[in-house]
Amino acid sequence: MAATPTRAVVDLHTHSVCSDGTETPAEVVRAASTAGVDVVALTDHDVVTGWAEADAAGREHSVLVVPGIEVSCSWQGISVHLLAYLPDPEDRPLAAALAASRGSRDSRLRVMVERLASDGFPVDVDEVLAAAGHGVPLGRPHVADALVRAGVFAHRDEAFADLLAPSSPYYVAHAAPDPVRATELVVAAGGVAVIAHPFASSRGRVVPDRVVVEMVDAGMAGLEVDHRDHGPAEREHAAQLVRRLGLLRTGSSDYHGTGKLNRLGEHTTAPDVLDQILARGTGAAVLGAAG
Ligand code: AMP
Ligand code: FE
Ligand code: FE
Ligand code: ZN
Repeated sequence: MAATPTRAVVDLHTHSVCSDGTETPAEVVRAASTAGVDVVALTDHDVVTGWAEADAAGREHSVLVVPGIEVSCSWQGISVHLLAYLPDPEDRPLAAALAASRGSRDSRLRVMVERLASDGFPVDVDEVLAAAGHGVPLGRPHVADALVRAGVFAHRDEAFADLLAPSSPYYVAHAAPDPVRATELVVAAGGVAVIAHPFASSRGRVVPDRVVVEMVDAGMAGLEVDHRDHGPAEREHAAQLVRRLGLLRTGSSDYHGTGKLNRLGEHTTAPDVLDQILARGTGAAVLGAAG
């Protein structure tokens, strides 16, 4: 494949309604085009169900689409997100791990909603499931949306700061693979593994550097440095680790439609880093404009 033009705008982390974004995959791709993004990765949490639609939209809007997944992981109770680019979606061990995470997400969400309902909050499991849609891995954003629909909060953000925070009595964790094991699975499936927003302390506790090092030893290629949830010191720490370990440095929006303030293209990845990701990812083909 020819090198990506040096002026290309590359955003490697977005979500659609296939997980907890608010736009369809086609709308995300169209919004990327409108925002001047040339290359977008669709990285829904623990699913690949948006890839086909993103492919068609990418062709229509001349946007290159990198198929990806944001794999939920857990290390000693700390949430870790692992971006997987170009993994083989049919790879059995990876698909099984993702299916297990989705199952755990669904049962934990039921418990959270039932706890809220039993304390008088106007939420209902069936309503939350119906609104999220069939086959969508459930997450706290879906509960946040239900609380917004019920008028308890004005925006997802407020629900996260209050009832849905990890410190809340309504919070329940879900089971997810260890990040080193998840890295091995992604790499074995031909994917390129990049840890997402590793030091975003505003989201909760973060893993020590040694976990990142172990993930690199397991084949992880890069680290998402430029992300709005990293403060200046966290970004500098991430950048130093990238240099020390010889990793790929990525930057992305983590766009969730109207579900978060994050705007497409607000952080980007250098085209030469994209080219290294495309060269290393062997499990799936690039979609959209280049598909
Ligand atoms: P969960 O994986 O179900 O525990 O939920 C975590 C998800 O919630 C992440 O994917 C984030 O995108 C989303 N999230 C975290 N904090 C916020 C926030 N303040 N506002 C909106 N969405 C958030
Ligand atoms: Fe999300
Ligand atoms: Fe994430
Ligand atoms: Zn994300």
